Amino acid sequence: MERKLVSPVVIDDIQPIAGADLIEVATVKGWKLVVKKNEFNIGDHAVYCEIDSFLPVREEFEFLRKSSYRKMGEQEGFRLKTIKLRGQVSQGLLLPVSLLNGYTYQIGEDVSARLGIIKYEPPVPAALGGIAKGLFPSFMPKTDEERIQNLSAQYEAFKEHTFYVTEKLDGSSVTFYLNEGVFGVCSRNLDLEETADNTFWKIARAENIEEKLSALGKNIAIQGELIGEGVQGNAYGLRGQMVRFFNAFDIDRYEYLALDEFKALIASLGLQTVPILDLQYTLPASLEELLTIADGVSVLSPQGKAVEREGLVIRSTDRKISFKVISNKFLLNER
Ligand code: ATP
Ligand code: MN
Ligand code: MN
Repeated sequence: MERKLVSPVVIDDIQPIAGADLIEVATVKGWKLVVKKNEFNIGDHAVYCEIDSFLPVREEFEFLRKSSYRKMGEQEGFRLKTIKLRGQVSQGLLLPVSLLNGYTYQIGEDVSARLGIIKYEPPVPAALGGIAKGLFPSFMPKTDEERIQNLSAQYEAFKEHTFYVTEKLDGSSVTFYLNEGVFGVCSRNLDLEETADNTFWKIARAENIEEKLSALGKNIAIQGELIGEGVQGNAYGLRGQMVRFFNAFDIDRYEYLALDEFKALIASLGLQTVPILDLQYTLPASLEELLTIADGVSVLSPQGKAVEREGLVIRSTDRKISFKVISNKFLLNER
């Protein structure tokens, strides 16, 4: 599902910040953000812009210039990032609903287009772009994970389940598929033409993925995270690139393989999964606690260096529930 970056919300809570006279902290679903004192009250409607929102240059948003001005390609705007104010993590922005000019909104609907707000996307290096053979094929899903903060209403119900936990790796999504005899390599949104300088295709060839999938004798896709040199700053300090897998998808049944089958398949292909941190996990009492648990050192940290991990991906054993918990420590370091 496409991310709802900007939507009308009900403010769930507002609390003082110790030692701060001019600001307070608002709660919106599982998000906390700092607001000016007395600007909003509990129960008010407001337009919530999530982190990664890229707001247009408009008079109403000029107050963001000092903290958030950024260019995305040729486009100027204001990028919302995770920040910390007076020791309080703050994620996103609340705007008055009056900005919607009387539009009759529904709580939770995406109003980003009305406000000219788009998602901030960092530039993609050429080797990770490539030439599109087509859009992402419809016979399998794109990789994606919802943020736990947007699932806060279900948190209590989730506590009844048992989960497995993997480390979320900060790289680039890749899908390898074999369907009706056609082998393909996809980035996050595109089916890619094979070219000599495309990193996704290079790794497919280096790892003999086409041969390995062909040997399975069925229509199948495997999805993972490409990490290493030239990918997202290579925080893990790897030489070259590698893929760590997190999904296998049975195309004919239109269904993901269950965890055990997935692990067995990846191992049998001589490939590696993302780091699996726990196989019998139950959620802590509160979402706040879970967010602190997401902070931690990456399993892929090089010798003698502690790399802050991006976070966790948590899935129920039956795979019906799946979400990401991004580390706020990681987000605070983001450029
Ligand atoms: P957003 O929609 O929040 O703006 P995004 O969807 O572009 O962000 P991410 O925040 O990276 O991307 O979250 C989803 C992605 O996480 C998946 O598409 C996948 O590529 C990647 N990923 C990395 N590690 C894992 C993992 N262990 N399990 C599942 N997905 C993972
Ligand atoms: Mn997403
Ligand atoms: Mn990512």
